Amino acid sequence: LGSTRAELRDAVARLGLRRFRGDQVFHWVHGLGRTRIPEMTDLSKADRRLLAELGRCDPPRIAARRRAADSTTKFLFGLADGNAVEGVWIPEPGRRTLCVSTQVGCAMGCAFCRTGRGGLVRNLSSAEIVGQVLAVRGALPPPEAPTHLVFMGMGEPLENYEATVRALRILLDPVGADFSRRKVTVSTCGVVPAVERLGAEGLDVNLAVSLNAADGAVRDRIMPVNRKYPLEELMGALRRYPLRRGRRITVEYVLLRGVNHDRGQARKLARLLRGLRCKINLIPFNPFPGCGLAPPAPQEVEAFRGVLLEAGYTAVVRRSRGREIAAACGQLHARHAPTSPWPPCGEPPR
Ligand code: SAH
Ligand code: SF4
Repeated sequence: LGSTRAELRDAVARLGLRRFRGDQVFHWVHGLGRTRIPEMTDLSKADRRLLAELGRCDPPRIAARRRAADSTTKFLFGLADGNAVEGVWIPEPGRRTLCVSTQVGCAMGCAFCRTGRGGLVRNLSSAEIVGQVLAVRGALPPPEAPTHLVFMGMGEPLENYEATVRALRILLDPVGADFSRRKVTVSTCGVVPAVERLGAEGLDVNLAVSLNAADGAVRDRIMPVNRKYPLEELMGALRRYPLRRGRRITVEYVLLRGVNHDRGQARKLARLLRGLRCKINLIPFNPFPGCGLAPPAPQEVEAFRGVLLEAGYTAVVRRSRGREIAAACGQLHARHAPTSPWPPCGEPPR
């Protein structure tokens, strides 16, 4: 599951098969979503027996799922070692977005994020990242397969760089799932060297940056990553980031009452982003027990947005979807309810 097509071609060649057999297997798995080797009927029985030696091809198990009234569906993926991560499938007119995880937990410790509370348990492998997409495709009728992917689930993708990039290469491969580069987005809290490295990869996927503050002092308080890679350095990396024509960086800004939500901060944000090709997603904070933070009132959110619109930016308030299943994108965590099959965020079920 976690091998690129080129790696699979090499692997089958080592078994003594022709290299194009690797393309066939890749197409079965990632193009058609059929992961069982005995079902790969354009390969001879002898070849299939040989292939079984390559290993198994099991996507993560769907340990639980919850569907909200608006059809947003949250999945809990059970991993082979007993850990679990979450994904959210978000249907909208004309697009179906799947939000996937890249780590069990997260080491970055952002104050407003529940995933960060439990620290990092471990990185996901490329097979586990790609496997989330396959598991969801397998669980939904084909017309509901995701059209868009966002790497915005649990974890910091750029702290699990190799597996994330490998997963992207697999998911974008035209012989496999063939996701369009324009429909895949990697979200980062701003790991500056990795942002630069990603730009140089030439993958051309969309980049989203969780900025969440327009000045260094505020960002220091809510995002510890800012002490290592300060806002000015991050802005430099974003300005240098190679963008294809017509593409923009997504700036994510979680609105926290009394921290980063007033008009002064909005004006600062407008100044900070001047000249950057971007669109701004405003995300009213999704509270969770014990966090001590709150979202601003809806009219304050609109006032913040108004300042950005007036300054000429595209700014969208992200509707909270699937709120009753705690599936709002960007807050993949479980509500702590005694009857809930979901673990508290950041603490994988044992
Ligand atoms: N680690 C990456 C991707 C996962 S977090 C990153 O930080 O970008 C995905 C998004 O969820 C980020 O924009 C983050 O700012 C947002 N987020 C985290 N906790 C949230 C909360 N409680 N309410 C609203 N958005 C939240
Ligand atoms: Fe990690 Fe992103 Fe949460 Fe920060 S917002 S703790 S980087 S998952």
